Amino acid sequence: MENRPRMSRFWTCSISTCSNAAAIDIGGCEHCTKNYCTEHAAHHGCSEAPLDDAAWKGAQVRELQSLRAKINDEALMKRASGLNQGMPCRLDETDFLGESRMGGMHIHLRLIFADHSAWLVRVLRQNYTSFDDGLSNDIFLSECATLKWLETIDYPAPRLYDYGLRNDPSNSVGVAFMLISEIPGNPLNQLDTSEAQLSKVYSQLADLHIRLSKHSFDRIGSLTLDANGNISIGPITGDRTGTLSYLGPFANGREYYSAWSREYMRLIVDGQMFSQYPVNAYLIFKHLEQLALDGKCNQFEAELDDGPFYLKHTDDKGDHIFVDDDYNITGIIDWSFARTVPMYEAFGPSLVTARMGDIFRGTTGLSEQDGYLSEALKAKRSRLARFAQSSDTARRFIFGLGMGMSMSGVEALGLFNGILAALGEEPIADWQKWRENAISRCANDDKAASTIRSLIQKEL
Ligand SMILES: [Zn+2]
Ligand SMILES: [Zn+2]
Repeated sequence: MENRPRMSRFWTCSISTCSNAAAIDIGGCEHCTKNYCTEHAAHHGCSEAPLDDAAWKGAQVRELQSLRAKINDEALMKRASGLNQGMPCRLDETDFLGESRMGGMHIHLRLIFADHSAWLVRVLRQNYTSFDDGLSNDIFLSECATLKWLETIDYPAPRLYDYGLRNDPSNSVGVAFMLISEIPGNPLNQLDTSEAQLSKVYSQLADLHIRLSKHSFDRIGSLTLDANGNISIGPITGDRTGTLSYLGPFANGREYYSAWSREYMRLIVDGQMFSQYPVNAYLIFKHLEQLALDGKCNQFEAELDDGPFYLKHTDDKGDHIFVDDDYNITGIIDWSFARTVPMYEAFGPSLVTARMGDIFRGTTGLSEQDGYLSEALKAKRSRLARFAQSSDTARRFIFGLGMGMSMSGVEALGLFNGILAALGEEPIADWQKWRENAISRCANDDKAASTIRSLIQKEL
């Protein structure tokens, strides 16, 4: 997989005579469930008004029914029984479509065994926002590898019993699936928690961070499995919101963050991201690339950029932590985009403790919940505490501008100012002046200068 050619674009515009890339951030149409370039996103015949609730729900049920029809229940139950001492099992008919545990990318069916124990079947959804088979399978395989690795360090996560890939002739189940253990309890972010309850959860999360910090990797990338079930580090196989594919693996943080910035510059030039203000967006990522190359993403000892590296759950927005009625963590789920990263990112402020409003407004500083986690680490005399209470550069870098979301130019500039402040740089007050200076700084770089000229043409 390491030699896999880089995917050039996620989708091409659905207008048959148009060869432009579909815009990731603004090109999806929920009316006709297709992806379009910036020009055709607004002008292809569909209403610009969002779907009403009934229409949205109807479209979702049709998608799930179509997915469900592809699943060979007999083959699935046979595989599960075979892996559980031949014990008979059945699929839970009360949630036939797997909606009650549905996320943006997966549904979960429940398999109930004769002894009343249950496993979950994690099935990859297939809709107009899905990737091609190759990337979908690589992301899926990476999660399987991550679950297998977590089992080796006795980390509380779903146990993986079996899996099959999409459009793989050897997969008798018919869809990409994992057979996993069911984690009891409820997602943390769906509970009304008191400060004391949250502190209890963060104390346990601190222990889990400490456990991850005892097991390192020599490169930055995503875990993957070979045909014999061996785990290794391959390229980063994607991002939480599907804006990156196949980056790395990397041997140091400077390469990783700068390649991440360059990937965004490529998406901007191809019209896949930020197509309503491409020049400003390009200049922002060019600036971030330089900061990354200068080692500014690392505010600790320079050698931390060279490893070792640690596993990071990149979709840790609170629904990934399951707790029981007494707020004991029962498991951490949803490892799709986990990757190995420098220590200061792995254990630095992340989504779970974020006040996202502050990030999008460019408001600097850490949240109250960031404080709970760093205090818990401090109380355990962990060396990780200093990362947890450091500035949240990676969080703003990866989860702000790197979310693949539709945002206005003003919001993007606010996020950029937040990143600069977290890096200890002066926020920008006069954007026009900054833009002119940034363009003139690129004057000696022929490639960047000609790219900027062509983006300016697009803006006109
Ligand atoms: Zn449409
Ligand atoms: Zn088009």
